[in-house]
Amino acid sequence: MIKSITHNVVDSFLELIAPKHCCFCADKLYDNTDRINGYCHSCLEHLPEAPLSDLVHERLLHSISSDDIAINEIIGLTIYNHDLPIHNAIFDFKYHGISQTAYTLGILLGHKILEKHIMPDYIIPVPIHPAKQRERGYNQAEEIAKGVHTIIKIPLIPFALKRTLYTASQTTVTSSAARWKNVADIFNISDEKALYHDKTVLLVDDVFTTGATTNNCASLLLQHGAKRVDIAVIGITERL
Ligand SMILES: [Zn+2]
Repeated sequence: MIKSITHNVVDSFLELIAPKHCCFCADKLYDNTDRINGYCHSCLEHLPEAPLSDLVHERLLHSISSDDIAINEIIGLTIYNHDLPIHNAIFDFKYHGISQTAYTLGILLGHKILEKHIMPDYIIPVPIHPAKQRERGYNQAEEIAKGVHTIIKIPLIPFALKRTLYTASQTTVTSSAARWKNVADIFNISDEKALYHDKTVLLVDDVFTTGATTNNCASLLLQHGAKRVDIAVIGITERL
C-alpha cells in the first residue's frame, strides 16, 4: 500500500517535471506503461490496418509494368492520410526533430514484421540526401529501422544506399508520373556486391505513396545480387 502510494507520488512528480505526450493524439500521458511506450494504449488499439500487400502491388501496376516491380511483400504499420493521428507522429519526426517517435513507431513495425514471419538477412533504411540529413540531424528511415532492429534482431546496414541528388520532397510532388521521374537514378549502392549476393533485404521507409522511391532502391539491390527485397513502412497511403 505504502509502496503504491510512493509510486503514485513519484509518477505524479514525473508528470509534472517531465510531461510526456502521445505521439498520435498528443494527449498528456499519465499511465506509466503509456509513458514508457510514448503513446496511449487506446490510440494503438484504434490504429487502422494498412492496405494489404497484394492491393498495393495492384496499385503499382498503374504506374509500371509487372517486370519493373522490384519489391516483394509490402508491410505497413497503418494506413496513412492527413486526417489520421499517424500524420501527427510522422510530422513530429520529419519536421519537428523528434527522432524518438520514429524509433517508437519502428518498434511497433518490428512486431508487425514478426507476425508476418519475415526474416530477412539485412535491414536497410531508404537514404535521404546528406544535406537533408545534416539539416534534420538524422535520417528518419534509419531511426525507424533501429526500432525494427531492436525487435527482429537482424543486422542493420545504415549506409548501404546513398541518395546522390537533392530532390523536392515526394510529399510536394503531386502527380504520380512526376514522382516516378523525381526519383529515377538518384540512388547509389555501396559496391560490395558479395554483401548482397543471394540475400534477402528488408527496406525500411516512413511513408509508401506511389512506391517510386522504394521500388528504385529495391531494383538497385536486385541488380547487385539480392534475391528478394521486402518493404516495411510506417504508413501506406490509401491511394496513389
Ligand atoms: Zn493517444
